[in-house]
Amino acid sequence: MKRSRLLAVLVGGLFCVVVVSMYRMLELMQGGEPPVGQVNEDLSRLQQKIDKLEHLLSGNNQLVATLRDSLLNHKALWETRGGVNRSLDSAHSLSGCQSVKKMEAGEDGVQLLDIYDLLPFDNPDGGAWKQGFEIRYHGNEWDEQPLELFLVPHSHNDPGWLKTFDGYYQDQTKHILNNMLIKLSEDNRRKMIWAEISYFSKWWNDIDKQKRHLVKRLVEAGQLELVTGGWVMADEANSHYFALLDQLIEGHQWIQKHLGVKPSSGWAVDPFGHSPSMTYLLKGAGLKNMLIQRVHYAVKKHFAQKQTLEFLWRQSWDSTSRSDITCHMMPFYSYDVPHTCGPNPAVCCQFDFHRLPGGRVFCPWRIPPQPITEQNVEERALLLLDQYRQKSRLFRSPVLLVPLGDDFRYVDAREWDDQFINYQRLFDYFDQHPELHIKARFGTLSDYFQALHGHLNSAGTTLPTLQGDFFTYADRDDHYWSGYFTSRPFYKRLDRILEATLRASEILFSLTLAEMRRFHGNGRLSADFPAREHFGLLTEGRRNLGLFQHHDAVTGTGRDPVVVDYGTRLFHSILNLRQVLQSSAHWLILLDKNQYHHDQSKPFLQMDDVISAQDALPQKMTLRLGDQPRPLIIFNPTEQLQSSVISILIDCPDAHVVEAQTGRPMAAQISAVWVELNQASTDSFQLSFIAELPPLSLVVYHVSKATTGSTARAQYTVYRHGSQLAVHAEPFQVSAPQGPEADVPLSLNNKHIHIWSSPKTGLLQKLRMKSGLVRQLQVQFLWYGTRSGFNQDKSGAYLFLPGKEGAQPYPFAQPPLVRISRGPIFSDVTSCFRHFTHTVRLYHLDGHAGRSVEISNMVDIRSEVNRELVMRLRSDVANGNRFYTDLNGFQMQQRRTLDKLPLQANFYPMSSASFLQDSTSRLSLLSAQSQAVAALKPGELEVLLDRRLQQDDNRGLGQGVTDNKLTASLYHLLLEERSGGSQEVGGASVEHLSLLAHLSSLSLSHPPFTMVAMSNSQLPKMQTFLPLRLSLPCDVHLLNLRTLEDPQEAESPSQEAALLLHRKGLDCSAAPEPVPACTWSEHEEVNLDELFSPLRFRSVRRSGLTLLRDDDEEPNSGQHRPPHVARLQPMEISAFRVEIHDSN
Ligand SMILES: [Zn+2]
Repeated sequence: MKRSRLLAVLVGGLFCVVVVSMYRMLELMQGGEPPVGQVNEDLSRLQQKIDKLEHLLSGNNQLVATLRDSLLNHKALWETRGGVNRSLDSAHSLSGCQSVKKMEAGEDGVQLLDIYDLLPFDNPDGGAWKQGFEIRYHGNEWDEQPLELFLVPHSHNDPGWLKTFDGYYQDQTKHILNNMLIKLSEDNRRKMIWAEISYFSKWWNDIDKQKRHLVKRLVEAGQLELVTGGWVMADEANSHYFALLDQLIEGHQWIQKHLGVKPSSGWAVDPFGHSPSMTYLLKGAGLKNMLIQRVHYAVKKHFAQKQTLEFLWRQSWDSTSRSDITCHMMPFYSYDVPHTCGPNPAVCCQFDFHRLPGGRVFCPWRIPPQPITEQNVEERALLLLDQYRQKSRLFRSPVLLVPLGDDFRYVDAREWDDQFINYQRLFDYFDQHPELHIKARFGTLSDYFQALHGHLNSAGTTLPTLQGDFFTYADRDDHYWSGYFTSRPFYKRLDRILEATLRASEILFSLTLAEMRRFHGNGRLSADFPAREHFGLLTEGRRNLGLFQHHDAVTGTGRDPVVVDYGTRLFHSILNLRQVLQSSAHWLILLDKNQYHHDQSKPFLQMDDVISAQDALPQKMTLRLGDQPRPLIIFNPTEQLQSSVISILIDCPDAHVVEAQTGRPMAAQISAVWVELNQASTDSFQLSFIAELPPLSLVVYHVSKATTGSTARAQYTVYRHGSQLAVHAEPFQVSAPQGPEADVPLSLNNKHIHIWSSPKTGLLQKLRMKSGLVRQLQVQFLWYGTRSGFNQDKSGAYLFLPGKEGAQPYPFAQPPLVRISRGPIFSDVTSCFRHFTHTVRLYHLDGHAGRSVEISNMVDIRSEVNRELVMRLRSDVANGNRFYTDLNGFQMQQRRTLDKLPLQANFYPMSSASFLQDSTSRLSLLSAQSQAVAALKPGELEVLLDRRLQQDDNRGLGQGVTDNKLTASLYHLLLEERSGGSQEVGGASVEHLSLLAHLSSLSLSHPPFTMVAMSNSQLPKMQTFLPLRLSLPCDVHLLNLRTLEDPQEAESPSQEAALLLHRKGLDCSAAPEPVPACTWSEHEEVNLDELFSPLRFRSVRRSGLTLLRDDDEEPNSGQHRPPHVARLQPMEISAFRVEIHDSN
């Protein structure tokens, strides 16, 4: 023991000498303690020395990481492979980038964009099937192969909509599930499917052992199937793929733990349009089949005519069949019973036995259902069979799916009996009459798909493939559901703040546990660290974020009190997860871990901002600077080395910042904090400095008071065009343009970009890149109103129904107050209008942060009636009618603005990015929140910022959207030269974001977290925490490092974590110049050990995206011995169960 300690110290000493000489050599070390070679027998002193060495080493690691990153950057520039110099001025210079692919739809392939070009969208009256056509059959079609029918009972339970999640659970959901147990047990021919695990798990917690046993028996017997298995039935337009996957993991993990099964079929009857990103995740999670419902009625009709309602949905970027998943599109208007048995709702409604006379629901077609009796069974059976047969003609196989259910169905026992008993009588009749050639029974969704696949296999046929997405949804006429892409934008932004906080907490918590185990040995954690409590907070955060992905939550389509309930959940989880971040960071930065003490009432670290309520924006705290330097701890949640501008508020106008470990001073700027439009605070000032943050690091900075005038101050120009204005902003220099100067365009520039703005409004007009590329780029604000006629349908939470006049320019009686600030760290122009404050900022930074223009808006339209505010960018980019929007932040989708469609149909969801391009340039708008976006005219791109609508739009919500708040939105605008030459690709080309846009988007979505040490005196010594030696390749995104639950000890963290990596697709045509400070993957084979060095993985097991265990999987099987080489393919997300090493 002692000998190995001695050896460790000697080796450590040697290291130290190297470290010190390296520091000297690089003249970067401001002072450090020399290693003492003398070995003392006192073990505690030895321990201290080892700690010091470790401290020094970690400081050095940071330096090395920075050097390595910049070295690799240069290497990437000049490295030759196969003797060819890699030149960056031509296309395809980025190895690993994906050149533009023209979509080749195979012989039996369907490309949705082509269908949009093809369809007239004329909406003729189809008769009984209003949006369809008359279906004919002879009657002998089923003579050879009988109609095989599966009636699938379902109950659609929204986790919040008109009532809150808990409200629905108490009033309906728990009764539905309780009755399910009784009614399915009564007859083993009965079946049921269930989708929302949020509800199912809540109910599970309420029931006793015996009932749980019964549930398992029903699942094993195939009577009860959990479909999709997500926490909710997620929205697919506004949701980000992190959250989509996270709620799927949460649900699947729950199902596996409690029921021991894996979902195999997806069920999405209510989300308002469908995205292939969801499809990708389902396939990756091991699902074989899926079902969708809300698709544009004209597209449904076309698919029905072509018998392509069942298809293999393939990712647009996939040239193989790897991503294919069997998808069933329901053909009719709704998922309720009148629209599922066949084309005629007046007939089908008669087979919804919940609507038997005397009940609360009835048939609007005025023909009520009749109980099935011996007298009427023949007539009833034949009437129903006719509908089944007509419906069957829309499909290629004689296997038929008929869902039986609606919203919150099967609440009381009577309803169960009415449906099951009457249908069983019909089925029995069919059985007794083989000449009808129908085999009908209750089934689950997987029963149906199994029979379908069986039939397809035996017939030797395959389904057509389909590429594309199903936005923007219309359910009738010109009622396009593009309003919900923006509704309740405050919460759409809050959703992403929780998402970023959750991801950061997950990663830092997992790293903390690994570090603790390494520190203590034996897999033990620090006794005082609240690992179990924090794991509970993480679980709650996952579930609250998951709940908000529901299709009435992030969509902004819930009732006001339900919105407050969601907001409160998001808000509480943000606060709770901040605790996890703070105490994890606390342990990690302590030099002497024995000094760690957890006290929730007196946290050692706190965020530098406060969120006071669920509907409030974060407010920065003003830090008091005393005689002692004030430590700031910054966490970089990205896997990239970042140069970030950190801004804090302090109580004096002069301060300086040093990096604590090296004493290196950081460039800083003091700016005014404006309390009124023309008045700056006298006791609060903004200090901004440039932080160099290695990947996933915690870096300690010291902020101290400085002598008066020693810190660079922003200089201001403040004015209102055409009028005199008094400005109070001591001690800042303020000027106002005089005479002809007042009409000269405002201009700001950094190393990479030069911008010009209107002297009257301060709004952007022109942009020039360092390369000389110039683009006209005007920012405009406009209002949309809604239709004005008395009997006209108007916009609401779901629908966007703008008035005929279209968008009208935002009027202003007097010009806005314009404030220009110029400083060494950033410069910006702010325009203060009545309903919004708009800021355009340039950062004076090298690297990607200096390459984009930051745009931020603060919008308040609470005084308005039936209005929607839009920000429009008008450029001279010649994009024609093509533009691109992202789907869930996962992939880019081409859009075509079509004149044959109404204006509202040309709006699409944008959750993180959209761009316009021509042969020479690309203009990308990267966004930190989800919104509606359109490119109505060539060169134009517009985003809807907020909407205030006084009325309901008749989709069941029963209210308007009038709970607007002061709402923030944030973007990066990127203009890039395209050196790919004529890249004008016709057809449905697949495009990706550029490398620069990926990096910019990453820093926009995952900004650093700033923490402050709360006590000013006697702070323990702190050290930088550097888990990674190098940035990850910049096309590899660390999506999550999510600690898994201990299978033995419930609600406790295990030693295993889910490592989720997303290798992004890169565009080839925009060669970044200068090259970002990172490398990118050239090969698909990646050594995870190298990637994550010095973290070491004891075990790495590739798994499905929801981390389900295989039954035959042996723990720690020798199959994956180090090195852990994994294949990461472009665009693919890869999931691994990993154990991070717990010993050196
Ligand atoms: Zn719903």
